[in-house]
Parts: sequence; structure tokens; C-alpha cells
Amino acid sequence: MTNHLFSLVRDGVPDPAKTVIETPEGRRYSYADLIARSGAYAAALRAAGVETGDRVAVQVEKSPEVIFLYLGAVRAGAVFLPLNTAYTPAEIGYFLNDAEPAVFVCDPGRRDALAEAAAGVRRIWTLDGAGGGSAAEAADRAGDAGSAFADVPRGPEDLAAILYTSGTTGRSKGAMLTHDNLASNARTLVDFWRFTADDVLIHALPVFHTHGLFVATNTVLASGGSMLFLPRLDPKLILSLMPRASVLMGVPTFYTRLLKEPGLTPEAAGGMRLFVSGSAPLLAETHRAWQARTGHAILERYGMTETNMSTSNPYAGDRVAGTVGFPLPGVSLRVVDPETGAALGPDAVGMIEVKGPNVFLGYWRMPEKTAAEFRADGFFITGDLGKVDDRGYVHIVGRGKDLIISGGFNVYPKEVETEIDALPGVVESAVIGLSHPDFGEAVTAVVVGGPGCPDEAGVQAALEGRLARFKCPKRVLFVSELPRNTMGKVQKNLLRDAHAELYR
Ligand code: ATP
Ligand code: MG
Repeated sequence: MTNHLFSLVRDGVPDPAKTVIETPEGRRYSYADLIARSGAYAAALRAAGVETGDRVAVQVEKSPEVIFLYLGAVRAGAVFLPLNTAYTPAEIGYFLNDAEPAVFVCDPGRRDALAEAAAGVRRIWTLDGAGGGSAAEAADRAGDAGSAFADVPRGPEDLAAILYTSGTTGRSKGAMLTHDNLASNARTLVDFWRFTADDVLIHALPVFHTHGLFVATNTVLASGGSMLFLPRLDPKLILSLMPRASVLMGVPTFYTRLLKEPGLTPEAAGGMRLFVSGSAPLLAETHRAWQARTGHAILERYGMTETNMSTSNPYAGDRVAGTVGFPLPGVSLRVVDPETGAALGPDAVGMIEVKGPNVFLGYWRMPEKTAAEFRADGFFITGDLGKVDDRGYVHIVGRGKDLIISGGFNVYPKEVETEIDALPGVVESAVIGLSHPDFGEAVTAVVVGGPGCPDEAGVQAALEGRLARFKCPKRVLFVSELPRNTMGKVQKNLLRDAHAELYR
């Protein structure tokens, strides 16, 4: 038996001397380096006592070394467990306690602050943003054991990673992802998005999340392409790299920030072949503005930590703004009545459920939660509400947890947000339900206004006649920006908490 996921990388290697990762400072790593360095980490992990199935938890700044460590953990037969760099020591304590890793790798600057949180972990290593630290030193020492490392055999159903969800709707859950969840999804995306060894991806996403770690990195590695590896979103740098690149993957914030750059022109983006957006809804307006400015239609796709990628707009056909496209090959998707589970027809809004080789094994050490989120026929209940239109395009309407029930009527926040966002002077909005003595929940709009934005009464007046009365916001609040997490997701729970007393 081979190492199922790493075989995907091995089989994708074009010429071993070819560059796979390049940093803005001009450091270059070839595919041969990637094999050697990941082998060195694999050997170092085994030498440190890591056994097959053990977790390797990692909270470090982004660098190419993290990719080698990830692949090293996979080759060592371990389970890679990356953690958001924003997590506090108390949060890290929770994750380490939950995951019980054999090794924890952290930033040397946080080593002391994390000492208590990591007290139960057998071995703690460090790795900094420049690729230095005791983890890198352990890999340096591996020598021949690294270059000769024989990948630990792992089958399609074995665990490759545990990824904690973004925590947008509550406490993060550890999603158990198998070798084949990751390998099959990478293969599907290579085909669907037509990746080849000629592709050069601008990689400016974090590598602790499914988007940057799996969608971006695995797809490039499986196709033998290369990455320009940026530590973070830097719109000017991204623009300057476009002439040397072919693909950009980003969250919607990437596109809104890039649109603010005067240098974003059809010429600047002329050599690019694909712009992908996901992780949060892309405003239809951003999609249109991007097309007008660059001539490219952004390809929006939908996925989650638990399912990898489930849907995508087509490569060749119509990329429809405000939709996430079609179920990917091999993925079954249905929309059901959340109460009864009965399948709904075209255009009816309900719960989105998916099934396929992309869908995770379950939540780490949460058997009841896992059982509750799967239907008897194997479909995973995503928690996202949406519909499939008569052309087969999937629309995400919002999260089940964000659904507002006001006076007994369902209000989908996105419908109200779309109307508000279309008003002149409105930059963006978030519509939430707040506890209300008469209505149960009251529809409440939080609006970011620009020049010419109407005031509260003006917004309410503009929506009258456009939306049924029960959907119209009882109050409109103005803010300078919406709270977002690192993946650009609007944190509606923070808005609900901040304004919980508004109607009481
Ligand atoms: P948690 O599950 O901990 O509350 P989370 O759901 O934000 O956090 P992720 O797995 O990172 O954690 O995000 C998946 C979610 O992101 C999806 O369920 C969906 O709500 C949203 N999402 C992803 N892509 C899109 C998209 N293109 N359009 C709209 N929503 C999207
Ligand atoms: Mg989720």
C-alpha cells in the first residue's frame, strides 16, 4: 500500500528541478526540495516518537516550511492539525486538550505564553515565519533518514488531517478528513478548473484553513504547478505578481481590496486565466465590478471544512454572479425541508445536504454531533440554506443559524441584504434577528454607508414596496465596518451579541 494522499503529490511531480514554491524575497524551492524537506520532517517526527495516527498540532506563521511540515506529517502516517494563528493561549489549550497531539509546533515568540496551554503535550517544537526553529533543526538533523524516508502506508479511508471549523456560528469543531477526502477533491478541482503544470498560483491565503491549505496547495501540487507564496493579503504585491501568474484564489475581501487599486486594469490581469472566490459570499456587485475592470468573470465556488469543495461555477460556461454553480463531479447535492428531510424542487429554499468522496468522516470525539449531522442515507447536513434554480445553479441563501423567524414568518437575511446593498450609497449590510417582545425576533439591518447613503428612515422607506412588510428591518443601525474573521466571514454572532438589548 502507498501513502494515498502523498502519492498524489509524487505522481504530480513534473521535473524534480522545477520550482514549486517561490517567496517574495526570492527564495525558491524545487519539487526535489519539497520531497527532501517533507521527508526530513517525516523522519524527524517519527524519531520524536510520533506513531501512525498521532496528531501533529501546529500554530505557526505562514511559510513554505509549513507546507513541508504538513506533507511530512502525512508521509509519517500522522494526522496534521493546523490551528488559526489568531487563537489565544486559552483557545489553544482547549484544542490541545481536545486533540491530544504527540507534537505541538508553535511560534518561538509564543513558546512561553503557550507553555501552560501545552503542558500536557509530550514534545513542543518551534517554527518561525522565516522557517527557523527547533522543528526545522530537527528536520535538518534527519540527514539520510530524511532522504531515504519510506512513506508510511495509508489507505484512502485513513485520517490525514483534522481541521477545526472557523467558529463562525459557535465553538469550532474538529473535522476528521481522510486521505481520500483530500486527494479526490484535489483531483476533481484539477480537472474542473483545468490546472496544468504550467499554472502559477498567487497564494496569499492562510495555511491553517481548508481554502489555503487544501483547495489552493493540494490542487497546485496535484497538477505539478507552482505557487508564489505570500505571507498575507497584500493587494499591491498581488497586482505586481499577476504578469508572472495564471491563477488567484481568494476570499471576497481579496477582490474588494484589489478593486480599490487603480493599477487593476485589463492589461494588469491580462495574463491571468482564472480568479476563484470562496469561503464567504461574493457580492454580485463585486462580481460585476471585477468583470468591468478586468474582463474576467470571477469563478465562485462553495465548500466547507467538513466537505472540502462541493460546488463550483463552470470553467467554460456561464459564471453566474450570486450563485456557487453546480455540484462538482462525484458530489451529490440536494435541498430538503429541514424538518422532514423531504427533497424540494427547483427554486424552493431549504437545507443543503451533500454526499460524496469529499465529505468528512465525522467530528473528532463528538459522536453524537456527528450522528446528528448525517442522514441515514449518508448525506451530510451542511447547515447552509439554499436553493437550486431551474438551470441547476446552486444559490446559498445563508446559514440555518442566521435564519430569522419574525412573527412566525421565515426571513432569509440574504434577500433583505441584497435589497439594501442595491441602494445608492450603501457599501454593504448584514441583516440579523434580534430578540423582540412581540415578534419573537425582529429583522434588524446593520449597514455600512458611504457617501450619499440614506439614513435609517430613508433605508426603511426605500425597502417599502420592494419587500413584504414582515421582511423590512424594524431598525437600521450604521457602522463603519462589519466584524469579520480572518477568512472574511461576517461574524453575525458578534453583531447579535452587541445589539441583544435593542428591543428590550
Ligand atoms: P463554524 O462551522 O465553526 O461555525 P464556518 O462554517 O464559517 O464555521 P468553514 O468550514 O470555514 O467554517 O466555512 C464553511 C462555510 O462558509 C459554509 O458552510 C458556508 O456557510 C460558507 N461559505 C463557503 N463558501 C461560500 C460561498 N461561496 N458563498 C457563501 N457562503 C460560503
Ligand atoms: Mg460551519
